[in-house]
Amino acid sequence: MARKSSLAVDATPRCTACGREHIVKNGKNVCGHQQFRCRAYGACRVLHPKSRETAPERKDEVLRAVATERLSLRAAERVFGVARHTISRWLEKKPKAARR
Ligand SMILES: [Zn+2]
Repeated sequence: MARKSSLAVDATPRCTACGREHIVKNGKNVCGHQQFRCRAYGACRVLHPKSRETAPERKDEVLRAVATERLSLRAAERVFGVARHTISRWLEKKPKAARR
């Protein structure tokens, strides 16, 4: 039996749901990223999904504009291109003392 180096083990794509190696390409998602399907588990996933979280600097910029320029959420939505529901959620998470 051939011994695999740790590099080779890392290079083998594995199912992100169950960890098995038997995965096959299964088309692309709406963003155009390659999807894989696990032959054992049946799950369809992207191997290394990109984080969709907004950068903290961007968040701070938007929240500061809302607080200091007294922008309405709809105005901030138009200016920054961030959904007002998202801004509202950020405001709820941020403690009141830090909104300056
Ligand atoms: Zn699996």
